[in-house]
Amino acid sequence: MGSPIASTIAQLVLEYLEEELLAHSNYDITIFKRYVDDCLIITSEQQDQEILAHLIGFHNKIQFTIEKEKNNSINLLDITIIRNNNKLETKLYRKPTNTDRILDYNSAHSERQKRAIITNYIDRAIKLTSPTYRPTILEETITLLTKNNYPINKIKRILKQRTHKLYNTLDATTKKEPTTYIPIPYIPQLSEKIENILRPYSSIKIAHRPHLQIKQEYSRLKAPTPKEECSHVVYRIPCNDCAGVYVGQTQQKLKDRLKGHKYSKAPTALYKHTIENQHSFDFGKTEILDKEKNRKPREFLEMIHIKQDVNSINDRTDIRNLSSIYSTIIDNTKKKRRT
Ligand SMILES: [Zn+2]
Repeated sequence: MGSPIASTIAQLVLEYLEEELLAHSNYDITIFKRYVDDCLIITSEQQDQEILAHLIGFHNKIQFTIEKEKNNSINLLDITIIRNNNKLETKLYRKPTNTDRILDYNSAHSERQKRAIITNYIDRAIKLTSPTYRPTILEETITLLTKNNYPINKIKRILKQRTHKLYNTLDATTKKEPTTYIPIPYIPQLSEKIENILRPYSSIKIAHRPHLQIKQEYSRLKAPTPKEECSHVVYRIPCNDCAGVYVGQTQQKLKDRLKGHKYSKAPTALYKHTIENQHSFDFGKTEILDKEKNRKPREFLEMIHIKQDVNSINDRTDIRNLSSIYSTIIDNTKKKRRT
């Protein structure tokens, strides 16, 4: 499923097939459960092949395979379903290919995130497993966590809390105030302080985002794009004949935008400065100040850079949308690059 729309289409198609199958047949189906394209069907042994043929018959591009129970049990998604004296029991199922590697406890992530990992693993073990198998599955979960360096006393403590909580609230529905999560990069110690400050506001929670992700580290292996090939940028062009600079933003490739500045007679501040003062701009010395894919934040960054630069020749109208609340901060950080 490569395309982002693929899972939605799969969902729609499977929903249609499910309705057709159940409405226009007389199969002896005790249970029909489906998660996207995984179906769990309980039926008689004579009918399973008929149902399979029926599903395959819908369209030659849609293929189904069948997996039957073995030793009274079958794996579905994250659980093993076990038929035990006409009663169905479940236990957490982990694929044999599972590497047992999860976020290491020694990794530079917030304590809260690591606690959440322990909690999630324990909750899944308890919720997806019937009481008969729970001790074994919990033992396996503890092994998985300790293998990844989670301290045993911490695991035991959380296990005790979660067992108490889940056994007492498995049926209860609790209504909670909606929480707003604010993602901020995780910086050890500083992030904890910010979290403490926000603690009294129960509807706001901080979600710690790892500061450096492997993806970002490795993307540096790629040769950097030459600046004139970059798009979605805020840029600055210096004047050849005075200290003035022009700040702009574009979604185009920088080289195309600069071509526009050189040849277009659109009444930009750059064009006016050129005509009114008989000055020219040094396009070769254009700098990229920021990169931002989305237009609104990019326009905002452009305004900040215009306001910050004492030598900016941009029109005042270029920053008319900048709220005055930023002025004090920006005035304090004004750059005096050239005088
Ligand atoms: Zn000039």
